[in-house]
Amino acid sequence: MAKKALSKEVSIFEELGMDQDASNIYIQTVSSILDAADVLKMDRSLKLILAQPKNEVMVHFPVTMDDGSTKSFKGYRVQHNNILGPYKGGIRFHHDISLDHVKALSALMTMKTALVQLPFGGAKGGLRMDPHSISQNELMRLTRRFTSALGSNIGPDYDIPAPDMGTNAQIMAWIADTYIHVGAGGNPLEGKGVVTGKPLEFGGSHGREKATGQGVVFVLEEILPDMGIELAEMDYSLIGFGNVGSWTARLLSEHKSKLLSVMDHTGVIYNSNGLDANKLAKHVEKHRGVVGFSGSVPISAKEFYQMEVDVCIPAALEQMIGPEEAEMINCKVLVEAANAPVTPPGEKVLAKKGIEVLPAILCNAGGVTVSYFEWKQNRQAETWDLELVDARLKKMMMGAANRVKEMQKKLKCDMRTAAYCAALDHLQKVYAIRGVFP
Ligand code: NAD
Repeated sequence: MAKKALSKEVSIFEELGMDQDASNIYIQTVSSILDAADVLKMDRSLKLILAQPKNEVMVHFPVTMDDGSTKSFKGYRVQHNNILGPYKGGIRFHHDISLDHVKALSALMTMKTALVQLPFGGAKGGLRMDPHSISQNELMRLTRRFTSALGSNIGPDYDIPAPDMGTNAQIMAWIADTYIHVGAGGNPLEGKGVVTGKPLEFGGSHGREKATGQGVVFVLEEILPDMGIELAEMDYSLIGFGNVGSWTARLLSEHKSKLLSVMDHTGVIYNSNGLDANKLAKHVEKHRGVVGFSGSVPISAKEFYQMEVDVCIPAALEQMIGPEEAEMINCKVLVEAANAPVTPPGEKVLAKKGIEVLPAILCNAGGVTVSYFEWKQNRQAETWDLELVDARLKKMMMGAANRVKEMQKKLKCDMRTAAYCAALDHLQKVYAIRGVFP
C-alpha cells in the first residue's frame, strides 16, 4: 500500500514520532531552533536531521564505595551532530539530570560551534549523581569507570568532552589518564586530546579556566555600546557565582562595571555601592556560597529580580527564568551566560517588556573556543601563552558577535533568532557541499 503523503500540517515532531510536551527542555530547545530554521526558509530535510541527536549513549555501571558497598550509576553521552567535525561538549555531574536535559544541551552545542565556526560538532554528557556527596577517591573511581563504560564512544578524533557543572580539571585529568590506558594503547600524545579543560601541567591551556567568563565580557564589549550601555557605567545583577559567574564578574570589575547583587544556591546578597568580585570569589571558595559575604546585606529573591539594573546575567542553572521571574525582572538587557536559563514562556514576557536577550550560544561560547585551542595545542604538542589565547579568543568572539549583528540587521529579528540563523546558515552551507551519505 502506498504511504500517505505527509500533509503540510505534519510537524517535524510528529514526523519523527517525538513527544511534544511544551515544558520539556529538549522540545523547547529544538522548537526555537526550528523556528529560526523557518525564518531562514531552511530545507525540511535539514530540519529533520537537526531535530534529533545522531547518537544517544546511555550506560549503567557499578562502583565500589569506600565502605565496601556497591552502587550503580547512570551516565549519558549524547552526540547531536558532527557535520562540522568531531563531537564536542561538556560532561556534567549533577543529581538532577535526565536524558532530555543532556539532549537539549547537546543541540545547543551544535548551534554554538557552528556560530563560532569551530571545526567541531555538538555533544553533551552527564552523570546522574551529586559529586559533593562522595569522597575524592569514590569520585575518581566513578570517573574512571564511567570513562571505560563510554569506551570508543569518546576519542580525540571522534568526541571530546570538557568540564561543565559539577566537573573540573581534575576530573578531566582522570578521564584522559583512563582513556590513555583503555582507548589509546598507553600513548599519551594520542590520548591526551580526548578531553579539554585539563590542568595546565597535563596538557591544559592557559586561559581555559576563565574562558567562558572572558568570552561573555568580549561579547558585551562588542554589543552593549550599540544598545547605549557602556561597561564602565553599567550596573548589573548576577545569578550564579561558579566558574562562569565569578570569572564574568571578576573581569567586568576590570572595566569598572558595578555588581549590585548576586544570587546563588545559598541565597542573595546586595551592596548599593557594588560588591567586590575578587573578594567574593575568595569568600565563595572558602564557604561554598555567597551568603555571609562581609561587604553585603542579604535580600530576598523577589527583591533581586525586581532590582533596577542595566544588565541581568544568569550564570547558573537552565530554565531559572520562567514567566513569573520575567514579570519581575527590571533590566534593559539579559545576558545568557548559562545555557538555556530562560524558558520560552519567560522569553515571551521579556520580549513584551522590551528586554533584549543576548543568547547563550553566543555569550558563553568562549569555553568551547578555548577548548578548541587546547585540543589544537595537544595535537601540535605546543603551549600558547595567555596573551595569544586571549587575542585569538577575542577575535573569534568578535567574529561571532558580528555575524549575529549582521543577521539581525538582515532579518530584523531578535538576537536569539539571529544567532540561530547565523549558526544554521553555516550548517546548511556545509550540508549543501557535503551532501547526505551515501
Ligand atoms: P558551576 O557549578 O561552577 O556554578 C554553578 C553556580 O550556580 C553556582 O554558583 C551555584 O551556587 C549556582 N546555583 C546552583 N543552583 C542554584 C539555584 N537554585 N539558584 C541560584 N543559583 C544556583 O557551573 P558553571 O561551570 O559556572 O556553569 C554555569 C552555567 O554555564 C551552566 O548552564 C553551564 O552549562 C554553562 N556553561 C559553562 C561553561 C564552563 O566553561 N564552565 C561553558 C559554557 C556554558
